Amino acid sequence: MSQDAVRVTNFIRNIIDADLASGKHTNIVTRFPPEPNGYLHIGHAKSICLNFGIGQDYKGQTNLRFDDTNPEKEDIDFVNSIKEDVKWLGFEWAGDIRYSSNYFEQLYQYAIELINNGKAFVCELDAEQMREYRGTLKQPGKPSPSRDRSIEENLDLFERMRNGEFAEGQYSLRAKIDMASPNIKMRDPILYRIRFVEHHQTGDKWCIYPMYDFTHCISDAIEGITHSLCTLEFEDHRPLYDWVIDNISIETHPQQIEFSRLNLEYTVMSKRKLASLVENNLVDGWNDPRMPTIAGMRRRGYTPQSIVEFCKRIGVTKQENVIEMSALESCLREDLDSKAPRAMVVLDPIKLVIENYPEDQVEQLTASNHPKDESMGTRTIPFSREVYIDRADFREEANKKYKRLVLDKEVRLRNGYVVKALRCDKDDNGDVTTVYGTYDPETLGKKPSDGRSVKGVIHWVSASEGVNAEVRIYDRLFTEANPAAAEDFAEVINPESLIIRKNAIAEPSLVSAPAELAYQFEREGYFCADNQDSSPEHLVFNRTVGLRDTWAKQGA
Ligand code: ATP
Ligand code: MG
Repeated sequence: MSQDAVRVTNFIRNIIDADLASGKHTNIVTRFPPEPNGYLHIGHAKSICLNFGIGQDYKGQTNLRFDDTNPEKEDIDFVNSIKEDVKWLGFEWAGDIRYSSNYFEQLYQYAIELINNGKAFVCELDAEQMREYRGTLKQPGKPSPSRDRSIEENLDLFERMRNGEFAEGQYSLRAKIDMASPNIKMRDPILYRIRFVEHHQTGDKWCIYPMYDFTHCISDAIEGITHSLCTLEFEDHRPLYDWVIDNISIETHPQQIEFSRLNLEYTVMSKRKLASLVENNLVDGWNDPRMPTIAGMRRRGYTPQSIVEFCKRIGVTKQENVIEMSALESCLREDLDSKAPRAMVVLDPIKLVIENYPEDQVEQLTASNHPKDESMGTRTIPFSREVYIDRADFREEANKKYKRLVLDKEVRLRNGYVVKALRCDKDDNGDVTTVYGTYDPETLGKKPSDGRSVKGVIHWVSASEGVNAEVRIYDRLFTEANPAAAEDFAEVINPESLIIRKNAIAEPSLVSAPAELAYQFEREGYFCADNQDSSPEHLVFNRTVGLRDTWAKQGA
């Protein structure tokens, strides 16, 4: 799959093209501004691909900036995971990592500038009063009693806020804009509030913290961002973004442009909701392979290329929509089909004893690693008198449609001989435990000489040489296409989202399978060794995705 086969365009790139043509800009600068309050998810990947993609294609630059104005919810672990995920997706940020908190001193000075120009005031309304004064969509707000405080008094109070002289909530700094604005965001929004909390970057240096709407636009302007791309819910923040920049003495004026966020069926995509899955132990951490986080998808076996390709295919628009999971999975299958070496693993083993094969003999058979790509080479797989086959691949009786092993019939062992089943043993429940049969020594790599036709091919692993493996089969985390609508996530979790097979048997070459590298387990799907729990002593494989889409809309 070629990453740049088609150079995608979209309405944002059209704006940039026009800005370059008119000479408004000569160098394009974008940023990706995550808040370090959770792990990145596939929705963020859309924003990452958009911002870094523009930086690359226009030979400009893209900054990685942590939007860290909410110290209560933020954490250095999140900072580290975000850096790792951006790199893993294949992108490089320009220069050092940036933090909004790097600009706290400058932001403070701009706030003083607003006060000096009569554009901001220290307000003493508490949260509840402020809500009352704010008005509603239908009714204008009322001015705060503090609105006409003198500049001197505002400067004095703001400095004392910074010095820690007041309690949380006692005062705030607000912009003086328009209490009657139809846009509630413009009704004298809060710019600073008092918070006595340690910050992961600035420690206890500050006890006042700037609000997102004041911080983001100024951080963009300080960094010389030309196009500040964000999701649609920020549309009604844009007038405030522009107001702040217009009312302080800063040279550049970045342009905020909104696009629709990515929504995916059968998953949730807000960090708050993902955090609640983690906190309520509904999943096994942020990197649970069922999570739509980059870390979870990586652990499950997604490749960066498949995610980038998906983001390219969904495009960038202003339309709200929900993407089907099959769109993501088909990008993954396409990428893995060409890349993944083949291997044989029996997930639900029963024994096949080949009675005309010598007891202690082990023969090394050769198998190609990829049926369509010789350059991927070959490997040897041991064959012996006893092999494991999958329970689903044997029946005592079956009709012609069943192309696997049946009593008195023949089937080919993949990469090996033709075998015939003669009889079987069962346990007390009537479940087959062992099948007995024979092999035809003349059929290795060729058809039976007398013209017998053997249609079925099944996978197998030598019982004496194979290794035990735990295989985790993942499915959709939720049973509902729109789980966010459910009152309680616990009710819509798919009880079959994780099925563990502890007794799988893998061909011995898989002992050295590197974590995260995709294999196609023949006839079963794509799998990779778990990057957290797998070791040569205890192999653990995750099913990345099945071979075919079993969720495709019926009759669609
Ligand atoms: P969430 O709602 O998941 O917590 P957020 O917007 O609060 O997301 P941020 O860390 O603030 O998360 O997001 C960083 C960037 O990623 C922002 O520019 C945001 O608009 C973008 N982004 C977040 N979610 C999506 C999504 N689902 N699709 C596209 N872009 C997204
Ligand atoms: Mg946010």
